Formats: sequence, structure tokens, C-alpha cells
Amino acid sequence: MIAVGEVFGMRSFMYNMNAGRVLFGAGTLASLKSEVERLGLNRVLVLATPQQEKEALELTRHIGARASGVFAGAQMHTPVEVTTAAMSVVKERGIDGLAAVGGGSTTGLAKAIALRTDLPQIVVPTTYAGSEMTPILGETEDGKKVTRSDPKVLPEVVIYDVNLTLTLPVAMSVTSGMNAVAHAVEALYAREANPVISLMAEEAIGVMARALPRIFEKADDIDARADALYAAWLAGICLGSVGMALHHKLCHTLGGMFNLPHAETHTAILPHALAFNSPAIPEAMMRIRRALESDDPSDALFVLPVSLGAEMSLSGLGMPAEGIESVVAAALSNPYWNPRPLDAASLRALLRNARDGAKPVRADI
Ligand code: NAD
Repeated sequence: MIAVGEVFGMRSFMYNMNAGRVLFGAGTLASLKSEVERLGLNRVLVLATPQQEKEALELTRHIGARASGVFAGAQMHTPVEVTTAAMSVVKERGIDGLAAVGGGSTTGLAKAIALRTDLPQIVVPTTYAGSEMTPILGETEDGKKVTRSDPKVLPEVVIYDVNLTLTLPVAMSVTSGMNAVAHAVEALYAREANPVISLMAEEAIGVMARALPRIFEKADDIDARADALYAAWLAGICLGSVGMALHHKLCHTLGGMFNLPHAETHTAILPHALAFNSPAIPEAMMRIRRALESDDPSDALFVLPVSLGAEMSLSGLGMPAEGIESVVAAALSNPYWNPRPLDAASLRALLRNARDGAKPVRADI
């Protein structure tokens, strides 16, 4: 155990708690009906991606007479056209509440509708993205992704049902899990870092890092799945409570510029972003070392996904070779807080390594 004074010294801090109700377990979907009743909802629209329409129908069966159909059109990066189509259904059917089953894409659609209507949301996450615990919404319009934070988009109820994560393909589980680890890693060196969030972040990193190899060995290992979902929940709280830095901003830029897949991009960038920041974040490094049981956390965060079959090169994920300069320019033209100041040469080196899927290089300052 670390005393607060040891980690935070005499630094003061602020802790903002996002209110929300969480149910966690195996078979918790059975509580959906009573949650709908508790919120007094009578016309609930169930949201999903086209790939998870079956799960959406399962939710309507749980909700019973208070369900008012399914909209299975959610897409990655929350395109505004999809939200507009869903909004027409909401208006036509007099919808008074939303239930979303799926990953960050489906949660994003629920949040986008809530932003426009303030309808209550019950979210049933089936990946480790963590969006359900944040008041953040990223929407894409005319090829540009704009992110905002608004308390209206924070889901009222989150039902974590481990059973629904058993079908998440192993490769997606690995990258989604690393996406969660990235939230926790950046929370440890956030400008708003605080002792409560740091406890959750350290726990999330360690639990997820131990769960993923077990899921890789046996995709339906219910205990490993429960651990991963628990870690994802904690990591989601981290993401929703403190600001993010270089890693998340780079992933956002790369995703928007080259339409790279979300979780996979996070997996490929994380070791490099941490290696860059590591000299400036001794307290965070101490926690990450302890969580990963490794003296070299950026190396460990490279070796872990590699050992689980993840693609670590941005080229392999679809980034064009000549793309580096535009990412460097975007990162420097739109300055944001980072524990270590950014410069073009270091960013270029970081992105070259990530493009090639090379090991991270620890920076010296
Ligand atoms: P996703 O929601 O796009 O899911 C990927 C695919 O996997 C989809 O086809 C989905 O239907 C399917 N899937 C999900 N769970 C499954 C399961 N258990 N079994 C089988 N198939 C399953 O992927 P994601 O990584 O969860 O979310 C990415 C999106 O979420 C991005 O748009 C990202 O920007 C957003 N996001 C937002 C926040 C936030 O706080 N606003 C946080 C994290 C991610």
C-alpha cells in the first residue's frame, strides 16, 4: 500500500465523481426489465450494430411490453447521418428511453441521441472500450470527428453481464483490453490525476494484463472474462474522470485522418506513447511497473499484445507510409497538455517506430 503523501506529496487535487448506477455479474441482463421499470420507461428503443441485432432482440425480450423495437444501425465513430436516422425513429415512436447493447460504437449512438433528447440510457457493454462510464461523445460529420463532454450523455444505468462478452472474438478482446489499459495508463499521469483514480488505474492495468493471456488460451474462461470486464469498467471510470494526453490525442488524429480501427490503433501506439512520456512521469511509472510486474513497462505493453497476436504496425492497420508528417503537423498545430513537451523530431521518431511495428524506444531527457 502507498500512502497518499508518498505518491502525491503535498499536491492538492480535485476529484469529480460521475454519478451512475452499475450492475455487474454473470446473468445480470435479467435485471434489465426491473431497471426499465425503475426509471419509469414505457417505450424503450434498443440500439445495436447490424452485427449484434440478435443481442438487441434478446434485450427486447427481456424488456417485454415496454420495448418499442430495435434500431440496429450503429457504426464506428458515431456518424451524424446514423444519429439522424435513429432520431426519426425516436420521434415517430414517441421513445422515452434507450437501451444499448454492444461496444463503444453502439454506446456512442445512445449518447448522441441522449445529447439531443436527454433520454435516459441503459447501456449493456460487450467490449472493453469503457465509453459507458464517460460523459464524452465523439461524433463524425463530413469526415471530421468532433469530441465533446456533456453530463447529458453519461448513461444512467450500466449493466455489465460477463456472459455477453464470451462471444467477443479473441483478437478483438486483446485490442479492446489494451484500449482499456491505455485509458488507465494515461489517467496515472493526467493533469487531473488524483489518488482515487490512480488506485483504479493501477488495478485496471494489472487485472487486464493478467486476464488477456487467459482469454487468449480459452475464450470462454468466465473468470478471465469477468476480470477483463471489471478492469474495463475501472478503466472507463478513469477515462471519464480525468483528461487524457499524447496517447489518446495521437490515436484520435490517426483514427480520424486514416480511418484506422479504434482499439487496434490504441494497442499499437500505447507502448510508444508511454516510452516517450516515461522520463517525465516517475510516480506513474512506479505504479505501472508494479501493476505489470515489469521493470520496463513500455516494453511489457509491447510484448503482451505481440504475444497475443496483435498487429503492432500502423502500416499493417492501414496508415499510408507518407502519413507521418501530417500527423506530426496536426499534433503540433493543436497543442494539448502532456507531461512531456512535444517536438517534431521526437514525434516523428515515435510514429516511425509505430508505423513499422518496431519496439518502443525509451526517451532520454
Ligand atoms: P465497436 O463497438 O465498434 O465493436 C466492434 C465490433 O464488434 C462491432 O461490430 C460490434 O457489434 C462487435 N461486438 C461488440 N461486442 C461483441 C461481442 N461481445 N461479441 C461479438 N461481437 C461484438 O468497438 P469498440 O472498440 O467497443 O468501440 C469503438 C468506438 O467507441 C469508437 O468509435 C470509439 O471512438 C468509441 N469510444 C468512445 C469512448 C468515449 O468515452 N466516448 C470510449 C471508448 C471508445
